[in-house]
Amino acid sequence: MAKTSYRICTLPGDGIGPEIMDQAKRILAAVGEAYDVDFQCEDQLIGGCAIDATRAAGVTPSALPPQTLEAAKASDAVLLAAVGGPKWDDPTPGAVRPEQGLLAIRKNLGLYLNLRPVHIYDALRDASPLRPERLDGVDLLIVRELTGGLYFGKHERQTDVAGAGIDGAAGDTATDSMEYAEYEIERVIRWAYEAAARRSKVVTSVDKANVLETSRLWREVNHRLNAEFEDVEGEDMLVDNCAMQLVANPAQFDVLVTENTFGDILSDEASMLTGSLGMLASASLGDGTALYEPSHGSAPDIAGKDLANPIAQVLSVELMLRYSFQMDEAADAVAGAVEDVLNAGWRTADLADETTPEDHKLGTRAMGDKLIEAFQARA
Ligand code: NAD
Repeated sequence: MAKTSYRICTLPGDGIGPEIMDQAKRILAAVGEAYDVDFQCEDQLIGGCAIDATRAAGVTPSALPPQTLEAAKASDAVLLAAVGGPKWDDPTPGAVRPEQGLLAIRKNLGLYLNLRPVHIYDALRDASPLRPERLDGVDLLIVRELTGGLYFGKHERQTDVAGAGIDGAAGDTATDSMEYAEYEIERVIRWAYEAAARRSKVVTSVDKANVLETSRLWREVNHRLNAEFEDVEGEDMLVDNCAMQLVANPAQFDVLVTENTFGDILSDEASMLTGSLGMLASASLGDGTALYEPSHGSAPDIAGKDLANPIAQVLSVELMLRYSFQMDEAADAVAGAVEDVLNAGWRTADLADETTPEDHKLGTRAMGDKLIEAFQARA
């Protein structure tokens, strides 16, 4: 039988991107060897480095050159590191900026759903701002709608409106509209139920149905899908209550599904439970090629110094194995390797504290070595 082969479009980007991507590729090669799968990685440009390259080539400067987009669309998955840096922080209106590459690739791949797992590592409990006992059993997945709602509605400004100013004078009014079609809601909530069926079987759908019509529609769709998925428990929660519950009792959640704006805010709140940005990965999914990336930025302050923590990038590989290639066993081995390395006390600079022995502090590549060793011991 022919060996399974996957094409991965790798986008190292800027700052620490190339350093952490190298470690992700090394892990991927180890996974390929252990599970007899051929992962073909092809580097493409995105972000600041793409702007520089297009400018140097004398073509229209772009943070997402056409060649990158074509390669991404033709691949089985996209693995992105991070973009941006002070070199490209041009405040001139209309200037090409690295972040435009991110927005453009998400839009062009039709990625309508973002997921962010929040897992607490026993060895890093002290890094969380919450008391350790509140973190017992915390392991949740936030599913966020990504292409609808407030962020993609009409944004309008009316000027010189009578009575809109201070003390009855004329002034400005502004409107942002929030709109959802039923299918946009259904595809995201359905995904959440399917994911929950493979986890602890609880979906919490977050809305503001006491005020918003979009939320009432959201809630109706949730109830319909809840009736369809008999073995998954579904509940509704108002977003203000959810914001409180995430810090008061985060262990109650399994899969949390919500619309774009609420998801943006709640996923950042939930990410703080882990206490470390270098540990969080995310996936953006649609009907075609999916994209996997760390939640952190390009950390230009530590770029090129072998100081970056590659774990979020490696956990992006874990998500890719799970959701694009259905290689759950391999994904579990990668996740387990991260746990083993941390339990053995190995730390990159961002994770180290005063209790970390000098000989357990690792650079980016050395952390990659430990992760590969731990993966091979499990696979
Ligand atoms: P950042 O996430 O890059 O860095 C914040 C802090 O966390 C810094 O001190 C950094 O050194 C540290 N850090 C981040 N990732 C780390 C890692 N893997 N290992 C160790 N330490 C790490 O956020 P920022 O400083 O606000 O932004 C820097 C650049 O990144 C900006 O140009 C910004 O626009 C861009 N950015 C890109 C993305 C993306 O590509 N998805 C996301 C956020 C920010």
